Amino acid sequence: MHLSSKVQNFKLLPYLCRFYILYMTFKELGIIEPILKALEAKGYTYPSPIQEQSIPILLKRKDLLGCAQTGTGKTAAFAIPILQHLYNDNRNAKGQRRIKALVITPTRELAIQIGDSFTEYGKHTGIVNTVIFGGVKQSSQTQALRRGVDILVATPGRLLDLMDQGYISLKDVQYSVLDEADHMLDMGFIHDIRRVLVKLPAKRQSLFFSATMPTAIVKLSQKMLGNPEKVTIAPKQTTAERVEQALYYVSKKNKPKLLVHLLTRNEIKSTLIFSRTKYGADKITKFLKKVDIHSEAIHGNKSQNQRQKALLNFKEGKTKVLVATDIAARGIDVSDLALVINFDLPNIAETYVHRIGRTGRAAASGIAISFCDGEERAYLKDIHKLIGQEIKLIADHPFLNSGDNEPSEKAKKPQRSQRPRRNDERSDSKKKVDPENKHKNDRRRKPFTKRRD
Ligand code: AMP
Repeated sequence: MHLSSKVQNFKLLPYLCRFYILYMTFKELGIIEPILKALEAKGYTYPSPIQEQSIPILLKRKDLLGCAQTGTGKTAAFAIPILQHLYNDNRNAKGQRRIKALVITPTRELAIQIGDSFTEYGKHTGIVNTVIFGGVKQSSQTQALRRGVDILVATPGRLLDLMDQGYISLKDVQYSVLDEADHMLDMGFIHDIRRVLVKLPAKRQSLFFSATMPTAIVKLSQKMLGNPEKVTIAPKQTTAERVEQALYYVSKKNKPKLLVHLLTRNEIKSTLIFSRTKYGADKITKFLKKVDIHSEAIHGNKSQNQRQKALLNFKEGKTKVLVATDIAARGIDVSDLALVINFDLPNIAETYVHRIGRTGRAAASGIAISFCDGEERAYLKDIHKLIGQEIKLIADHPFLNSGDNEPSEKAKKPQRSQRPRRNDERSDSKKKVDPENKHKNDRRRKPFTKRRD
């Protein structure tokens, strides 16, 4: 049947238009064959909203200001058009490769992930990228640079260092990307970024991504971009809406017990636990070990190799529980991360959004659980303000703490016996129920499905 005959009934038109818009493919966006082939191999047919909006702008070589969080597909949104431009520009190029595209990103994990994306999406294009970051010896990085690369992905400190040593020239850069600009600000990199920007040729296409837009970031974007097109995807609330969130009031002392309690109620799925400090992260892995839960920690005191290995184990499902500090967790990209647990609440509200955004990536829905002790109530207030909603409070757990740092009367009892005793279950809810036994009756239920009304 002809489309025109279907459309005769004009009432259908909006639905057909919606269908068309929703199901636009990468091919329809004008992506070239070698890249399409790689995307197909990854199972990507349909662009995510940020890709659908950004790719046409970027293919027209316009500057872009993207207000988007990680998890929206923004890496491919910039990587695909850059690869396409370089492929078309370079087809007949001969001689030594020069850096024509520069991506600056705050952490080494993120840098590696972006480099991997360029490698994957560009595997049929012949375009070469390399990744440089601090905390490791520079020799393998400088060797790769000497061999010649088209795309350089870098963290700011190592980039400046190798520029100062004469290994890197930015004079041929035609495409520049500043990724996670607000994290650059949080991590004190803005001065370094300004130093890099002055070395870039004025005539280039500039892309600027940030999840939030505080004044300092707006100013920086104005310095970097000409007259950009703007794309805003997934505002803060969207992550908060997409991810199912639950809040547990618990004393600092009882947090380990609550964690074990929640982890052992159901089969453990891939879980990322956030700790505010490196010491705290190690402590979590130690007490989990005591109850036979295998976990690994990644933080700044671990070597690059240890971090990569732990990440790989986690991605491959060999380790189900990964404990991380905020900075170390930046580059974690596990598509089916089931659960995020904020063992400590972050003192910066935006960090909460970044953390819970680790789960529920792309189209998947995720779950984020937060522990809050008496001292963290102030952070919680900020988080509620930022996300514009109150996180669902779960009062039905054995370690409920009403607000101070002492366990409540209700919470004291079960501390004696942390492990559930199988043959001690009681089902009569009218009897005085030991909270530990009470939860056993609910064991099949998700840990956060019951809330205080
Ligand atoms: P990002 O925001 O770039 O960190 O991407 C978030 C996740 O979405 C990553 O795991 C990507 O591999 C995945 N992803 C990106 N684009 C697509 C797409 N068009 N279809 C399916 N998954 C995608």
